[in-house]
Amino acid sequence: MLTITVASASFTDESEALVTRHTTVFCGSLIDGISSRPVKSRTLTIRDGIIVSISKTSPETTIDLDLSDYTCLPGLINTHVHFDANPEDAADYGVYARRTQADNLALILRNAEITVRSGFTTVRHAGAWFPDTLAMAKAKIDAGGAIGPRIQSAGPYLTIPGGGGDLTFPEIPTDKIPAESQQGIATTPEEFADRAKSAIDNGADFLKVIASGAVFSTGTEPGAPEMHQDDIEAVVAVAKQRGVKVTAHVHSDQSGRDAILAGVNSLEHASLLSDETIALAVENEVALSMDVYNGTYTDSVGRDLGYPKVFIERNFDTTEAQRIVFEKAVAAGATLLYGTDAGVLPHDMGGWQFEIMIERGMTPMQAIQSATSAAAKHMELGDEVGALSVGLRADIIAVRGDPLANVKRLRHVSFVMKDGLLVKGPTPSSSR
Ligand SMILES: [Zn+2]
Repeated sequence: MLTITVASASFTDESEALVTRHTTVFCGSLIDGISSRPVKSRTLTIRDGIIVSISKTSPETTIDLDLSDYTCLPGLINTHVHFDANPEDAADYGVYARRTQADNLALILRNAEITVRSGFTTVRHAGAWFPDTLAMAKAKIDAGGAIGPRIQSAGPYLTIPGGGGDLTFPEIPTDKIPAESQQGIATTPEEFADRAKSAIDNGADFLKVIASGAVFSTGTEPGAPEMHQDDIEAVVAVAKQRGVKVTAHVHSDQSGRDAILAGVNSLEHASLLSDETIALAVENEVALSMDVYNGTYTDSVGRDLGYPKVFIERNFDTTEAQRIVFEKAVAAGATLLYGTDAGVLPHDMGGWQFEIMIERGMTPMQAIQSATSAAAKHMELGDEVGALSVGLRADIIAVRGDPLANVKRLRHVSFVMKDGLLVKGPTPSSSR
């Protein structure tokens, strides 16, 4: 059963057309995710959820959705989300032992809906504490039984015991640690290879290693190497054999280097990379997915939410460190994938980091492409999503006015279509 949310009453009449995924959309302005410039006045014709033509015409009677006052863009892609966590969980990790599987499923589905409604129609789920529950949620979304983005999932975190991906916190008694969260824990290269195989057997689309510790962790230092090069190499070998990619969570220069030399495809955070390691990433075509906004969020709200002081300080420090590395990486020509670490950042704030990326050296169009065509290409989804082009899926968002002139417009997306189905329409006050 499809659930279509139509926010604007003026769209209700068209709901029949939308359910059948045949529709025409007129965009006053259009950013296609690939070209360096926007174009004006384009009509997109959609059949069976696919864009079959993009023509330069004026609105006619055959237009189903008139977005004359809007700029259309491809559905955005966030390469770093965790739907089984919310930011406020950092104030009390004991919550992970108290939530039932039904609670976790509801949480994941809620966060998935919030995410797609904020304009992110595709995500890379970069590690889960509840990978089985995530797989259930993904299946439900794919079957049309819930609203959410297209999800590529890493399955469980591959991590050492007590490492940044292990759900062992002082607040959780040992006998209450959920078994589901322990599937990716290993200590030797052989064990890591086994865990990697199981993750893929259970449906992982890519793999995620915690090369060095998380910021919100106890008993580890952010950046202190946890998995070593031979552990990561064992995971990469399995991934290559099975045709999937590997992403590594790293903060320090040492673990960034270890991960690149081990053969991973992307690094998350990469907070403290040296100039040499940035050059090594460029040379080895390793993409960087850096969250350059969320330290600001944590610093401003974490205190009110009662986060431990050490988490706030570490997140702020590592965010500023990431901004410095980000600026160097842009200048060095590295591939940068839009990633916000949502879960640490609230799920409705996915669009907030564009501004910082531009402040730190990207053009607005580069920042948009990092969240559309560049991310899709890295995820090997470039022939499906990441651009408004004929033959691709009709994942379309729209904002009022020009996001290139004011990228903050991407914080509040008015219109979201995924696979030709309307997820969110302009609110009555903002529609024509
Ligand atoms: Zn993360």
